Amino acid sequence: MEYIKSKPLNLVHVQCCICESDDTEPVGTGKDFEYNSSADTFLAMRCNTCGLVYLNPRPDISGFERIYPANYHAFDFSEKEFGFVYKIRSGLEAKRLLNCCNGLAPDARILDVGCGDGFHLRLLRQYGNKSWKLEGIDFDKRAVEMAKKSGLIVHRGSVESIELPQNAYDLAFMIQTIEHLEKPDEVLRSIRKLLKPGGKLVIVTDSTDAFDFRFFKRSYWGGYHFPRHWSLFNQNSLTMLAKKTGFEVASLGTQYSPVNWVYTIHNWLVAKKGPAWLINQFTLKSAFSLSVFTVLDIILQKFRKGALLRAILRKPS
Ligand SMILES: [Zn+2]
Repeated sequence: MEYIKSKPLNLVHVQCCICESDDTEPVGTGKDFEYNSSADTFLAMRCNTCGLVYLNPRPDISGFERIYPANYHAFDFSEKEFGFVYKIRSGLEAKRLLNCCNGLAPDARILDVGCGDGFHLRLLRQYGNKSWKLEGIDFDKRAVEMAKKSGLIVHRGSVESIELPQNAYDLAFMIQTIEHLEKPDEVLRSIRKLLKPGGKLVIVTDSTDAFDFRFFKRSYWGGYHFPRHWSLFNQNSLTMLAKKTGFEVASLGTQYSPVNWVYTIHNWLVAKKGPAWLINQFTLKSAFSLSVFTVLDIILQKFRKGALLRAILRKPS
């Protein structure tokens, strides 16, 4: 795979979004191993105060269309494209989503922030209470178009800029969204305003407490997704962000996922110029490698070291 040798991305320097300082040390460096969106090398820094790992410098908004190319997986995670993997993942995700919806009233209002092509909203519509009111928000035009095609109510823009009713939602999801955000603290504050008192926000994101981070953080760790993941949390930094933005932590733990493992091997093979047929065994379409790493991460999850963090935050009553 050849990197696109066009001009480098515009990069901006940022501070830790939790501590608003730049007392950091470098933890990893790497390239866009998945989409070859630029020839840049990126640096992941760790905040010495809260432990947040963040991309610094990172692309500015002008680079969005390049770093999220048309074949970016969140724009079209469909059964047609992903077949067997879609079926298995849908079943698992539906169960996880419904677990978070326990006790919701029939007229509950649910918001998916960073809904992508509407994958999670479609599962809630299919398997959840038919009278729930489902809405999504996404920044990306292509993702919003895909979601609207399946008849979902989706707002295009950022949660800070769209006018939505305050104190109105019972539950909000941010599933693998927070790591992509420019200002996670501002987004959480905005969501808190939209939630009813006692309303919950479920955050799922890559965990830097995970085993694979410890071993592969110097470059190939799948959770970096250079340069698309801007903030990577552990239990400590996510708790600090929740407190900073006025939430209570109702629960905080991990859940298993094979995805970062698969990307880690993929990235390593790309960097080592492995053969294409072998690299292609480590993608989101590779049922075999996804199965193997699912088993491994289920074992790690038993020790509370699953690949993903899952936090349930509550707006104080
Ligand atoms: Zn910090």
